[in-house]
Amino acid sequence: MNVLKFGGTSVGSAQRIKNVADLISKRGRNIVVLSAMAGTTNSLVEISDYLRRGNIDGAKETVNNLEKKYSRELAELFDDGKWLNEAQKAVNSSFSVIRSYTETPFATAEKTILAQGEKMSTAMMFCYLRSKGVNVVLLDALEFMRTDINAEPEITYTRNRLRPMLQRFPDADLFLTQGYICRNYNGGVDNLQRGGSDLTASLIGAAIQAEVIEIWTDIDGMHNNDPRFVENTRPVEHLHFEEAAELAYFGAKILHPACVLPAKLNNIPVRLLNTMEPHAKGTTIDNNYVHNPRGIKAIAAKDNITAVKIKSGRMLLAYGFLHKVFETFETYKTPIDMIATSEVGVSVTVDNDRNLHTIVDELKKFATVTVDPDMVIICVVGDLDWHNCGLETKVMQAMSDIQVRMISYGGSDYNISFLIHKDDKIKALNSLSKHLFS
Ligand code: ADP
Ligand code: ASP
Ligand code: MG
Repeated sequence: MNVLKFGGTSVGSAQRIKNVADLISKRGRNIVVLSAMAGTTNSLVEISDYLRRGNIDGAKETVNNLEKKYSRELAELFDDGKWLNEAQKAVNSSFSVIRSYTETPFATAEKTILAQGEKMSTAMMFCYLRSKGVNVVLLDALEFMRTDINAEPEITYTRNRLRPMLQRFPDADLFLTQGYICRNYNGGVDNLQRGGSDLTASLIGAAIQAEVIEIWTDIDGMHNNDPRFVENTRPVEHLHFEEAAELAYFGAKILHPACVLPAKLNNIPVRLLNTMEPHAKGTTIDNNYVHNPRGIKAIAAKDNITAVKIKSGRMLLAYGFLHKVFETFETYKTPIDMIATSEVGVSVTVDNDRNLHTIVDELKKFATVTVDPDMVIICVVGDLDWHNCGLETKVMQAMSDIQVRMISYGGSDYNISFLIHKDDKIKALNSLSKHLFS
């Protein structure tokens, strides 16, 4: 059994839903995970924002616009009155849930509102497949996806709940479920963060020990640079899990960073495939090492980074200094991404500046502190084992016209990272592509 996940663009219109239905109904008894239709989660976030601010009219107008879009797509999707009616009922019920909060807004509404996108896309796909005679079973992700008190997914819970559910339907042609949504440790409706449907697919894959996890999207695999900022990027045929994790974490939007681990630990290959071009090879990610003659495989960029320089009179021989620095970040639950050290201090980067003000106040008790906001991490990924001579020099040459604030190399065998100002990001990405891939 495989897990096939389709992102928002792949189910973004009635026509795309029909294409995906055609694709999945030919693939056998698999579990299909769907995102919300493209744009829906953004609209639901907007509705929640209006409600939080008490702008009920703003919320109502956004709900009305979204509902109009769904009415149009529903009319185009079905030529069968009975299943149109069923799909309409399901979509209406989601809009009633959303509207109920415009009458009596309350604090926990947001997660329930956000969950309606995936509820609606799966209901529409379910009805469409049934209208075409496919014996599809719709599984409610809220019955088997749960996070613990630290908001970490509980894979054992998913395994124990999901397996008997699948066994209950021996005649099912295929199973369908919602990505992204889950329950939290309180039993409330919650989610796995934006882009989290990839993580749902990976968790389900691990829970059922799938043969492969397929992430179907709007591009033919992981490209060697960010196609939103660089022209003529190309898909990378193969990545090791470690390489994919670096790229996903450092900004390659095609993959949710957390989705790599469950697949890697359970040794399940992940394939990134293109719904618009289903025969393209895409990218395969697994635990195998495949030699790449170029050495460098791909480049990604992570935005909204803040650098913090922490200087003491003397650092290296004064043991305990780094401990105090890291302890301060740990106390305020702020992860550090990059680190650079010298005799007199240390520079670190963070992407979460929620507690930065307090952290800086604490650090100033024993060091001088400088904060540089608006930075970007550029991450170059590939076969960067230190025994390979010259690769880091090649990468450095590509960055020779860019002001570099920090460099990190040797933390793993797979990456070299640069911290630069956000204004230089596009120039740096293009220069790296030109020097390394052309
Ligand atoms: P989905 O809605 O299917 O989950 P996403 O929008 O989350 O799709 O991810 C696909 C998008 O990721 C692509 O359209 C592309 O613009 C962006 N992207 C960023 N970096 C890369 C990369 N290195 N390779 C491929 N796509 C990338
Ligand atoms: N619908 C959610 C989002 O837009 C989850 C996902 O698509 O992965 O973030
Ligand atoms: Mg995505």
